[in-house]
Amino acid sequence: MRVLIVEDDGMIGESLREALRGQGFAADWVRDGRAADAVLASERFDAVLLDLGLPHKSGLQVLTALRARGDATPVIVVTARDALSDKVAGLDAGADDYLVKPFELDELLARLRAQGRRVAGRANPVLAVLDLRLDPATREVTRGGRPVLLSAREFALLQALLERPGAILSRAQLEDRLYGWGEEVESNAISVYMHQLRRKLGDDLLHTVRGLGYYAGPAKDA
Ligand code: CA
Repeated sequence: MRVLIVEDDGMIGESLREALRGQGFAADWVRDGRAADAVLASERFDAVLLDLGLPHKSGLQVLTALRARGDATPVIVVTARDALSDKVAGLDAGADDYLVKPFELDELLARLRAQGRRVAGRANPVLAVLDLRLDPATREVTRGGRPVLLSAREFALLQALLERPGAILSRAQLEDRLYGWGEEVESNAISVYMHQLRRKLGDDLLHTVRGLGYYAGPAKDA
């Protein structure tokens, strides 16, 4: 999951980015409203964590402009303003959720997962293909009921593929989901992780379509 953090407080921004990256998210961070505007107009994110009080342009203005462009990216307003009128204004400007600082990371992660389900139109929190199960909340993966231990990157890659079973995702799309700005990506990283996943999960679930990318699910005829 690729997440944009919009936060002018250096300590909060950096700790959020590192915490999310530690969970296998591709997390990027901008510090003001104008930078947020520019990035959101040119890059795609799975969710935005949006502070309201920002230099140059308020979070509310960023949100209003985003929705005016017809962009439906999930936005969770994250702010210290806990006045009822601020919550109402944020939600009415097009926010999908609202979190008041200070908050627990676990609650933020659960709200991000909920947005992911909403976008995918999925009510069941557990991702499954054949006898493979991935639980984004507990981070448990089982194949045929047997637990499989994955690294954070392997987990993130598998999750991205399982969220859209049968859909072919290109290497660039998958790199986007795994790496934030400034994180070094080895040119063969995705194929190395795919190899490790097949070794751990069996080679009947994850498939390569030469020149196009990868998909999860039962093999399709070429
Ligand atoms: Ca602020």
